[in-house]
Amino acid sequence: MGVQIDTLSKQFDEFIMEAHRLKQLYAPQITLLVGLETEYITNTDLDGIQNLLQRHGDRVEYIVGSIHHVNGIPIDFDLPTYRKALESFGIEDEGVRQEAFLLAYFDAQYELFERFKPEVIAHFDLCRLYDPDLRFADFPVVREKVERNIRFAADYGALFEINTAAFRKKWSTPYPAEDVVEVYMFFFFLKKNQPYVNRSFSSDNS
Ligand SMILES: [Zn+2]
Repeated sequence: MGVQIDTLSKQFDEFIMEAHRLKQLYAPQITLLVGLETEYITNTDLDGIQNLLQRHGDRVEYIVGSIHHVNGIPIDFDLPTYRKALESFGIEDEGVRQEAFLLAYFDAQYELFERFKPEVIAHFDLCRLYDPDLRFADFPVVREKVERNIRFAADYGALFEINTAAFRKKWSTPYPAEDVVEVYMFFFFLKKNQPYVNRSFSSDNS
C-alpha cells in the first residue's frame, strides 16, 4: 500500500516546522540550515518541488539536487532494478543501450539544475553505482553532457558533494569518481575567485 501524497505533504510541512523550531532553539550554539533533496521520477515531481518551494518560500534554505531514477525506475535500489532501468530503453546493443541510459540521466539532471539551481549537487554520478568502472570518456556524447552539467552548475555557484556512501557500496572512491572530479577541478581553476568546490557534504545516504 502506497503512502498518499497528502500524507507526505503534511509530513514535509511538519518537518519544516520542526526544523525551524530547532534552528531557533539552537541558534546560539550552531547554524542549522534547513533544506530538501530533490526527487525526479516523472515531471509531476518537478511540479511538486515547485509547489513546495512556493509554499515554504525562504524557509527552504537550500536544495540538494539529485537524480535517483531513469525512465521512472530506481537506479540505486539494487542490481536487478538497475538492469530493469537499462532494459527499459528496449535497445539490444549493450553499448548503445548504456549510452541512452546515461544520456537520459544527465539530461534529467540538467533539467533539474536549470529549473531549480540546487545549491548542492549530490552524488553526481549515481548513474554508474552498479558499474563503478564505467568511464564517461568511453561515450563522447555522454562526456559532453557531463561537462555541460558541471559547467552550468559551477556557473551559478553550486557546491559539489563528495559522498563517501560509495565506499559502503563497494566503490574504491567516493562519488563522484576521479574522471568527474577532473572536470570539477578544471572549472574550479577556471573560476578560482569563486571557490565553489570548497566544502563537502555527507548529508545524503544514497
Ligand atoms: Zn540521494
